[in-house]
This record gives sequence, structure tokens and C-alpha cells, in this order.
Amino acid sequence: MQSFNPPVRTLMGPGPSDVHPRILSAMARPTIGHLDPEFVRMMDEVKQLLKYAFQTENEMTMPVSAPGSAGMETAFVNLVEPGDKVIVCINGVFGMRMKENVERCGGVAVLVEDDWGMAVSPEKVEAALQANPDAKIVAFVHAETSTGACSDVKTLCEIAHKHDCLTIVDSVTGLAGVELRVDEWGVDAIYSGTQKCLSCTPGLSPISFNERALHKVRNRKTKVQSWFLDLNLVMGYWGQGAKRTYHHTAPVNGLYALHESLVMLKEEGLENSWARHAAMHEKLKAGLTELGIKFVVDEAVRLPQLNSVWIPEGVDDAAVRAELLNTYNLEIGAGLGALAGKVWRIGLMGFSAKEENVLFCTSALKKVLG
Ligand code: PLP
Repeated sequence: MQSFNPPVRTLMGPGPSDVHPRILSAMARPTIGHLDPEFVRMMDEVKQLLKYAFQTENEMTMPVSAPGSAGMETAFVNLVEPGDKVIVCINGVFGMRMKENVERCGGVAVLVEDDWGMAVSPEKVEAALQANPDAKIVAFVHAETSTGACSDVKTLCEIAHKHDCLTIVDSVTGLAGVELRVDEWGVDAIYSGTQKCLSCTPGLSPISFNERALHKVRNRKTKVQSWFLDLNLVMGYWGQGAKRTYHHTAPVNGLYALHESLVMLKEEGLENSWARHAAMHEKLKAGLTELGIKFVVDEAVRLPQLNSVWIPEGVDDAAVRAELLNTYNLEIGAGLGALAGKVWRIGLMGFSAKEENVLFCTSALKKVLG
């Protein structure tokens, strides 16, 4: 066995995205204790910076020490009690995982389904809530990574609140890539991932819960069935001002990386980050259109950071992706679930959303497609 030296790739799939060298070098700084006063000071900055990224004043804003799936589980295990009815919107793979989470918590999932590639339909959600007045939560994906569709968070939250429901929003792919205003839009609980538009290393899941959501957590009749993800316990370590008590050993160096990525986001400015993703999407669209490649998602609801495109007729999906990887060190994503074998997913996330990547990807595709 020898040391592992990964090849240097350009990551333009559905995540992870390219990690900026500043973030990689932050990660290589000396490990200190997870209760060291200097580390605790940095944790407070991470919370502050995450509030900025989410556009929230929620005190309960922190990174879960595990990937986006753990952020998802944190939202569901804390908010869904056995017997709770949850409206789950499904327009791709990740909505399906929400259903799985609800059922594993003993909840009852009422499905609102839209075709893959479409945004979640506010009309269908309204109808589902009218038919299920006892529903307690509406859960949906802001940025569906399996298709590249963006749903209208503000409108869906308004509808949910009109029916006295809490909202759980998945913005693993949305955060920092498209507009997201947690407080202004009335999101109650949200989770994200570090490996997409924050361009950080994978393995952490920023979350934010407002007071309405925390009220439900604090007044549960049953214990949260996951010890590790129980927010009442996690807050002993991440809570503001309070003396930090050991809950788990935080991924110290991963948090250095997150801190650096958030400092970089602040330096760029959130709005500028959204605008950069949109501008790079326009350039990619121009390049792909020249190659005759068509997009899956309607422009009105298309995510700039996740571009699902139809694989041209007669083209061998796996062979093209393999050639891009082996000859050009370029990763693009395969289709997922119902779209497997039919689409490619080209990511423009975080540090990967830059002009040189767009030009590289379109010219490599041109070569490979002949
Ligand atoms: N939700 C969405 C929308 C995602 O895109 C992903 C990952 O791609 C996840 C959840 C799960 O995140 P992770 O793979 O970091 O566990």
C-alpha cells in the first residue's frame, strides 16, 4: 500500500464541486481540540456566517457533523412524531427520500407528485392541504439535484402557513447558488450540504430552524429516536453563549474548511454568488445549444447550478462520460432514477461556476461527440 494521490479532476457533476485551494489549505491546518477556546470562537463565526448564507437570524443555525442526508434526517427526526401527517412533495429523487424519512419516523406521508423536471406545483400543495386539514408539515426540495428544477420556496411556505403547517425545505443544492431568504420567505426548517455551491469539502450539513420549528421540537411527546441528531442534545455543544459541553467530537478540520468557504462567500457577497451562477449558466447554455444539446427543465424554473440535458440520440452515455473522465479529467454527472441513461447533469456549483470550466466542458464535449 502507498499513499493515495487522487487525480486532479474538474468537477462539473451534481456535486461535489471543485474545492477552492484556499479551502483545501485551511483544512490542512493543525488539528486542535473540539472544546479548545480558539475552536469554540471559530464555531461562533461559522454560525454567524451560516446565518448570512441562509439569510436568517435563527439562533439555531449550525452545521451537522455529517453529510446532507444527515441534515435531512435531523429535520425529519426532530419534527415528525409518530402519527404526524406530512405533505411530501416529490418531483425527483430527493423528495422520495423525504417520504422514506417521514415513514421511518412513524409519520404518515401524503404525496404531492409532479413530473420529474417540473417544479413543485403550489396548486397541488394547496389541494392536498385542503384534503388533509390535519397535516402538520409540508416538506419539499428547493433545488432538485436529480433534475435541475427549482421550486418556489416563498409561495410554498405561504400556502403551508395558511394551513398552519411547518415547512421543511431541502436546499442542499440551492444554498449560495440561487436566491434563498430563509426569514423573509418563512422557512421553518432547512438543511443544506457543503459540497455543492459552497465549494467546500463534502461531509457537513448546514441547518437552520426557526422558533416555530423549535417550539415543536421542545414540546414533543416522544423522544427523538436518534440520539446523535437530537437537537436538544446537539445544542449543548453548538448553542450560543452557553458553556460548550461534549456531545460528539466535531470534524475539526472539516469545520476549518467550512469556515473558509463561508468567509469566501462573504467576501464575494451572496447576491454576487447568485449572479455568478446565473451568468455561467447563460454561457453554458450558449455553448451547449451550439452543439445541438437541449435542456430538460423549462427556463423559467431551471437551476443555473444543475443543468440536466438530454443525451443526444445514438450517443453512448457511459462511453462519453468515461472518455471525458479518462482523457480530460472532467467529471459530469449521469442521470439519476427515472432519468438514468437519458440525461447528463452538468454542474456549475461554487468554485466550478467559472468561465474557464464552461469553455473546457463545452469544447471537451464537442471533441468527444465528434
Ligand atoms: N438532498 C439533495 C437535494 C441532494 O442533492 C443531496 C445530495 O446530492 C442530498 C440531499 C444528500 O446529501 P449528501 O449526499 O451530502 O448526503
